[in-house]
Amino acid sequence: MIDFATSPEEEAFRASVRGWLAANLPEGWDTPRCPRPRGAAEKVAFARQWQRTLHDGGWAGLAWPKGYGGRDLTPLQHLIFNEEYVRAGAPDMIDVGVGPGLTGPTLIHHGTDWQKKRFLEPILRGDEIWCQGFSEPGAGSDLAALRTRGEIDGDHVVVNGQKVWTSYARFADWCILIVRTNPDVPKHRGLTFLLLDMKTPGITVRPLVEMTGVAWFNEVFFENVRVPRELVVGEVDRGWEISLTTLSHERGTTIPYPRIRHELEGLLTLSRRRSLDAPLAADPVVRQELAQLAIETEVLRIGTYRNVGEIMRTGQPGPGGSMLKLFWSELEQRLMELATRLEGPYAALDEQAPQSFDEGRWQYGALWSRAASIYAGTSEVQRNIMSQRTLGLPRG
Ligand SMILES: Cc1cc2nc3c(=O)[nH]c(=O)nc-3n(C[C@H](O)[C@H](O)[C@H](O)COP(=O)(O)OP(=O)(O)OC[C@H]3O[C@@H](n4cnc5c(N)ncnc54)[C@H](O)[C@@H]3O)c2cc1C
Repeated sequence: MIDFATSPEEEAFRASVRGWLAANLPEGWDTPRCPRPRGAAEKVAFARQWQRTLHDGGWAGLAWPKGYGGRDLTPLQHLIFNEEYVRAGAPDMIDVGVGPGLTGPTLIHHGTDWQKKRFLEPILRGDEIWCQGFSEPGAGSDLAALRTRGEIDGDHVVVNGQKVWTSYARFADWCILIVRTNPDVPKHRGLTFLLLDMKTPGITVRPLVEMTGVAWFNEVFFENVRVPRELVVGEVDRGWEISLTTLSHERGTTIPYPRIRHELEGLLTLSRRRSLDAPLAADPVVRQELAQLAIETEVLRIGTYRNVGEIMRTGQPGPGGSMLKLFWSELEQRLMELATRLEGPYAALDEQAPQSFDEGRWQYGALWSRAASIYAGTSEVQRNIMSQRTLGLPRG
């Protein structure tokens, strides 16, 4: 059973998030006095600064234990925080990115005392940005097929090979990297999890421009890159277990529901405004489509609360997490697709064009939303997980 009622404590928590955001958003935020940053470099520089503000306000590392400088929020409080954060239109956070979202929780579980002391605080403050060097040209869904080599040479692991789709790599200070240290054992064994300083000699980063026009992605090449042994997380050849911890955090986010609800509200506004002779919201077919999206957004809300309830009861999202990821990523694509259809020929304008609707938000969103059914496990992979773990079907 799903319990939607929030306690007085949870409502007080909601009010504290709302109050803090109202008092601490940059002066004139999202107006011509303080517009949202544009372009990758400006966005990253702004996000670093904003992360410092969140940290100083006690809002960094929301799910991290207090002993490590975090806030130790329950999954429900985290969801409430995300609802308020999106409602306020607050800036994009690094906090959902690799450092606070993936590296921090992985080090808290598996890091040495030295690694925790060295890395956790700079992650929380936004002083050091991280990227995730997992995928390779021949290893994505089947991550354990990765071939980037790590050879043990005294006190170092020497890395040679290539990663791809490495978001933020050209801005990152550090990278969580998985390499193959033993090629003679079954593929899930013989992997090692490293913390890599991106300034180490032998690393070449080449940006890849996405269809949105922004280059978040990169190819990263390694030529005799020497990584000190103290930067191995866990044991040499036992990196698969560590990467599973990282991946479990990648799939457990609760931000999609608040974000999609916010997008639906924007879409309703667009449908009332955009018109040739009458508002598009008056068109019966458009009304049907908007109603369908509203129903699906409500299904997403229920699914998110159910998932949060399951995590609070069992400590894990279970296969319900896969169902939710599949559902929200495809719902967001349908929503963006309708938005660009409503824009008509204006959908061809980009964010720089003065006549574009909502500063090109819908065009950008339509292109970017294609990514969500690929990263953190593709839709096909989520369906496989559900077929085996929810329906009990044999492996395909
Ligand atoms: C926006 C974005 C950001 C990313 N950022 C990073 C990052 O920072 N670091 C990083 O390491 N990676 C990153 N990735 C890469 C991402 O993890 C991979 O794209 C993803 O794991 C899929 O791997 P692949 O692209 O190699 O596709 P493949 O695994 O080659 O899949 C190709 C197609 O085959 C299907 N398929 C594969 N296996 C099966 C199967 N068993 N059953 C049925 N169908 C299957 C897939 O669903 C897909 O349609 C990012 C990707 C995106 C889109």
